[in-house]
Amino acid sequence: MTRIAVLGSTNMDLVAYTARAPGHGETVTGREFRTVPGGKGANQAVAAARAGGEVMMIGAVGDDAYGTRLRDGLEHAGVDTDLLHTAEGPSGTAHIVVDETGANSIVVVPGANGVVTALGPGEIAAIAESELLLMQLELPLSAVVEGARAARSQGVRTILTPSPAQPLPDELLDHIDLLVPNEHEAAELSGQAEPHAAAQLLLRRVPEVIVTLGAKGCLYAARGGEPVLFEAPSVNAVDTTGAGDTFVGSLAVALGEGRPVAEAVAFASAAAALCVQKPGASTSMPYRSEIEAS
Ligand code: ATP
Repeated sequence: MTRIAVLGSTNMDLVAYTARAPGHGETVTGREFRTVPGGKGANQAVAAARAGGEVMMIGAVGDDAYGTRLRDGLEHAGVDTDLLHTAEGPSGTAHIVVDETGANSIVVVPGANGVVTALGPGEIAAIAESELLLMQLELPLSAVVEGARAARSQGVRTILTPSPAQPLPDELLDHIDLLVPNEHEAAELSGQAEPHAAAQLLLRRVPEVIVTLGAKGCLYAARGGEPVLFEAPSVNAVDTTGAGDTFVGSLAVALGEGRPVAEAVAFASAAAALCVQKPGASTSMPYRSEIEAS
């Protein structure tokens, strides 16, 4: 089994569905409200565990009711939460308003995620014992840099999802093996809107890049090789939330099993295509048996 450490966020998504989002200073009446466990770190952890990985989550929840529910959800998915700390104060929350066109506006309040500014010996040891380390940018950058550096010094492969997009220092990218931005993040990080051009520029800073392109699939590029476009399975998408995290979590499992890139991408694309056919994020992430049967 592939041992994967995820250094990342856990958030409770507080989702209000409304005909139209309120304007500045305005109040509108919504149609429905849901609380959904999320956070890019937790979502990637759930995706990797369901895809067949042995997953350790490193991060923090708050000492509130959301924290308990976030931890329970991860454990239910088979994720090891021994290194998911309980910090004083509220858990991370994402306040999401979805209008009738499906467009959303989001305010993320980091809460407990914000206290993860450094790693302890337990976290460093868990990273060293893993085959891969998955990171995103919803924790303080100092912890992400420390995790990436620790992983690299132990020969642990590092994968970074650069979301939310922000300028990335060399002290982080110098320790990243594979960068997986979506099309918008790739454009923002490179200054190039066209994915091939963006990937080429990003390859100056990391050895391998996969730009995910939604329904169009993804573009894989490695230093010294020709970029390859992998098409996504053609499916009827009902909700693409969590597609990127499903892709990365299942990709990590397949890479950790030593599968060649083309095979690992096919596995990840199949998993993400299953995710988009159901509503929700972590709830719609497929199990290994479903991925293999698709
Ligand atoms: P999200 O923020 O919605 O979780 P993302 O913006 O991080 O996703 P995308 O590039 O939209 O990432 O999607 C990631 C992967 O999911 C794609 O590379 C593709 O394999 C798969 N995918 C996304 N949308 C579709 C779709 N409509 N049909 C099939 N596969 C899809």
